[in-house]
Amino acid sequence: MSKSYIIDTTKSAAAKLVPLPVANVSFAPESFWAGYREGNRTISIPKLFELFEEKGILDNFRRLTGQKKCERRGPLFTDSDIYKWMEAAAFALTDQDDPDIRRQLETAITVILPAQCDDGYLNTFFTKPEERFTNPDAHEMYCAGHYFQAAIAIDRCLGDDRVLNSAIRFADYLYNRFGPDKKEVWACGHPEIEMALVELYRTTDDKKYLDFSRHILDQLNADASWKTAWSEDCTVKFTERTELWGHAVRNLYMACGGSDLWAETDDPQIAQAVNRLWQNLVNRRIYITGGVGSRYRHEAIGLDYELPNLLAYTETCAAIANVMWNYRNLHITADARFADWLERSLYNGVISGISLDYQHYFYVNPLASFGDHQRQKWFDTTCCPSNLQRLLAMLPGYFYSTDNEGVWVHLYDTGTAGITLKNGDQLTLTQQTKYPYDGLIVMTINTDKPETFNLNLRIPSWADSCDIKINGQAVGNSATPGQYFSINRTWTNGDRVELTLPMPLKFIACHSHVTDNFHRVAMMRGPLVYCIEDVDNKNLKSVHEVGIKNDFSILASQAVIIPTAKFDFTTLAVKSPAFEFQSEDALYRPVTKLEVKHRPTQIIAIPYYIWANRGRSEMTIWLPVIE
Ligand SMILES: [Zn+2]
Repeated sequence: MSKSYIIDTTKSAAAKLVPLPVANVSFAPESFWAGYREGNRTISIPKLFELFEEKGILDNFRRLTGQKKCERRGPLFTDSDIYKWMEAAAFALTDQDDPDIRRQLETAITVILPAQCDDGYLNTFFTKPEERFTNPDAHEMYCAGHYFQAAIAIDRCLGDDRVLNSAIRFADYLYNRFGPDKKEVWACGHPEIEMALVELYRTTDDKKYLDFSRHILDQLNADASWKTAWSEDCTVKFTERTELWGHAVRNLYMACGGSDLWAETDDPQIAQAVNRLWQNLVNRRIYITGGVGSRYRHEAIGLDYELPNLLAYTETCAAIANVMWNYRNLHITADARFADWLERSLYNGVISGISLDYQHYFYVNPLASFGDHQRQKWFDTTCCPSNLQRLLAMLPGYFYSTDNEGVWVHLYDTGTAGITLKNGDQLTLTQQTKYPYDGLIVMTINTDKPETFNLNLRIPSWADSCDIKINGQAVGNSATPGQYFSINRTWTNGDRVELTLPMPLKFIACHSHVTDNFHRVAMMRGPLVYCIEDVDNKNLKSVHEVGIKNDFSILASQAVIIPTAKFDFTTLAVKSPAFEFQSEDALYRPVTKLEVKHRPTQIIAIPYYIWANRGRSEMTIWLPVIE
């Protein structure tokens, strides 16, 4: 059986679920995600590597070994970008060989390995030993963590331990210098290594890496001496924190490390901290798109209910980190709440970060735009493209898990999963669906002999109800949205499960403390958040001058779902009645009673992840409501 796990919880003390390896799951060509994975493999990954060569990112390593005489280029943390790319390449090669990516990966490995110092240290920015670990914001452990994760991925997916052996030497250097019983203390200003060290422990069975991870987590923000520009002066250690505050990606990576330590140690203090922080995030600080980060300053999560739309920062990496965090928590608890937020981020705030031509990216993902926000091929800080690439490469691994009693289905798309049951028997489960655009999912069990196990189906919280049939017979009247529905039976070959999740257009209101969204609603259908873009609404003066009537059940019934094939694959637009405001010229004007003049019109809304693919465009998600 393949070991291509995203996280390997097979021996984790507190984890209820074990993910299915990435190689065990495949998407059919007509599925929603097949295009993304194919685009990732054939366009995004090879093109980013070419850009790494063009921008000198690999030359930074060649420079260290004397292969090339050149200046170091890129920000001090840019080693991590090639490491994330290597992780993406390894996972992309699990289900389909690709000579170009294999060649590029081999180039990266053969350039990087000789650049490692004799003592195990590896970083292209710090070339003199005395310069190492003098600046907490220099991302040395962050880069190291990404190196470890690339190494683990290459070992797990390709059975090649060359990079893993190098990563172990580097980890040992760090442990011998900063480990739990050492004199020197160091915690990197950008968390990442915490989760990498837990995964290294899972890979090597060497418990010192687990202890080291815990030791570093305990140092984060532990006292005033740890302050960095990004910590927002937080001096509360992880186990005592009540809120996620400061740099979004750093906080969420820290939380991922916390969850990994929870999975391995079952430490109640860590478990409580993870749950507190998660509650704080999803109840007060996350965007409807599953994006995180309300401030450009320090790329930070803001205060409770501080969720501006135009100035939303919501770095693509932060939405990805939210997927990673919820995935970890889901495997510990088997609680569908985590799968709900994983899905929300994935279908909205994550894939808004990549264009439909698979080679332009958003670093920042606002929830409204005056048309000035566009995707780019390259960023000097190119964390988001490589992060998207590794997520899409490992995406099949997000769909299913197993436990001792059976199979868990978290996400829905057309494809096949190869599953090994607890008794060692193997079967396949196929899905057929047009999800996320249609809520009918047909699953078929293919097994050589009858097998008794639980099939746990996730019923998303956005579904008001669901309908489940087995071989045409209705079951599951007790299925509750926001939970898993467990079907225990003896399954025989060809058994067919039909899950129907109604997907009416829904209008979503926001807590009134979010001032940008006061008396506004957003539209959702299934897991997708919708937006209005001016390219589809030429009848309007501006998408920012449109509102809808406060009668949402009638509006929902009048809305028409329009299948379109504009974007190379079928998507859906929603046509709905609305009102266009007649705006005043003056920026400010005296009034005795505020009256808004408006005329009836129609709007076309599209899924948020599709916006900004057709040139400069205004966009909005939250629509004002007219009484
Ligand atoms: Zn990023």
